[in-house]
Amino acid sequence: MESDVLIVGGGVAGLSLGAALSGHRRVAVLEAEEAIGHHSSGRSATFSHFGIGNEIVRSLTAASRAFFQQPPNGFSETPIARTATALFVATDEMLPTLDKLAEVMKPHAPHIRRVGAEEMLALFPPLRTGTGKVIAGLVDTEGLRLDANALLQGYARKIRFSGGEVLTGARIAAVRAEGGLWTAVAESGERYAAPILVNAAGAWADGFARTAGVAPLGLRPLRRTIIIVDPPDGADSSGWPFVKTAVDDFYILPEGGRLAASPVDEVPDDPCDAQPEEYDIALAAWKVEEYTTLAVPRVQHRWAGLRTFASDRTPVAGFDPAAPGFFWLAGQGGFGLQTAPAMAEAAASLILSTDWPEQLAALGISPHVLGPERLIHG
Ligand SMILES: Cc1cc2nc3c(=O)[nH]c(=O)nc-3n(C[C@H](O)[C@H](O)[C@H](O)COP(=O)(O)OP(=O)(O)OC[C@H]3O[C@@H](n4cnc5c(N)ncnc54)[C@H](O)[C@@H]3O)c2cc1C
Repeated sequence: MESDVLIVGGGVAGLSLGAALSGHRRVAVLEAEEAIGHHSSGRSATFSHFGIGNEIVRSLTAASRAFFQQPPNGFSETPIARTATALFVATDEMLPTLDKLAEVMKPHAPHIRRVGAEEMLALFPPLRTGTGKVIAGLVDTEGLRLDANALLQGYARKIRFSGGEVLTGARIAAVRAEGGLWTAVAESGERYAAPILVNAAGAWADGFARTAGVAPLGLRPLRRTIIIVDPPDGADSSGWPFVKTAVDDFYILPEGGRLAASPVDEVPDDPCDAQPEEYDIALAAWKVEEYTTLAVPRVQHRWAGLRTFASDRTPVAGFDPAAPGFFWLAGQGGFGLQTAPAMAEAAASLILSTDWPEQLAALGISPHVLGPERLIHG
């Protein structure tokens, strides 16, 4: 099968780029698993907020909001995002970090404000407040809760509607570059060829590059764990905010009538079908009891996923300087959903050689900022 652009990886990165290119180029997205979004993209906390990442990540998050709030006509039958409150909390010793967070968030979320115990408890009744516990917070009433499934399906539908392909069960095992064409061979023996090959393989991105004879960028998959616990009997937790500590050691948010909590672990792992470790599950439960008045007699459900980072924690989009036609779309860390629309727009403009998106330029993001060269030359 031949196309203009072959995208390896059917997570949010590959699918969002495929959708941005569809209608302009013949696109084929190849996903190893039987379903799209099987790995990181289907295991996230699905929240978009400015309390994560560096300034480039915050700018990409800001540039993606319009897409989530007003997706293109017919993109999805159900909303892909809804406004939800984010509450960043601090104990006495975390206060300097909370101040710093307010400073870096303000340019993107000028409406954020400091709140005290009373207001925090009105928003999130189980919060443990008082001496030695949480004493201050920062509230952002304009966070976004994303629907990952609706988002992924919307992107896939757009690709197929424009004549492109999204193929599952297509694990690429070998890659050859010859005569300006990349040929990817699946385990089944099926062959796919295109002049442009996009590496959107998530945690496998460095390994996939090696398969294609391209030098890796030093991307690191880090495992993160989420547990599901019950709210107190009779409590309606559906309107509770996303609550995160300023120092990044705990978060909790409503999830399907229950609560999802994470110890914000970052455990180095190999690219794999990530599974939660007993230690991290216990740590998550302990932190729920440490930061809230909730008791965790039982963990109802748990999962883990990989968040894959470049050394500077900025995502990567750009052609490899040493391998013509080989395009990197990787290193989306813990912000791959909330930055996907802007990253896809940036990547599509590089692949289509169109003008760099004005919105990104205005936010100080140039191709150079996202390009892989920065990681190759140290
Ligand atoms: C616990 C957790 C919480 C998170 N919370 C948030 C959040 O609240 N907000 C947010 O924005 N982000 C969050 N993230 C981060 C987000 O999930 C990731 O940044 C994003 O999903 C990365 O997307 P991706 O497409 O690069 O990777 P993936 O979704 O992993 O997709 C890569 C795909 O490539 C495929 N692949 C690999 N090798 C091959 C091959 N050889 N052939 C064919 N296919 C191949 C894999 O099967 C995989 O499906 C979270 C992540 C985790 C783990």
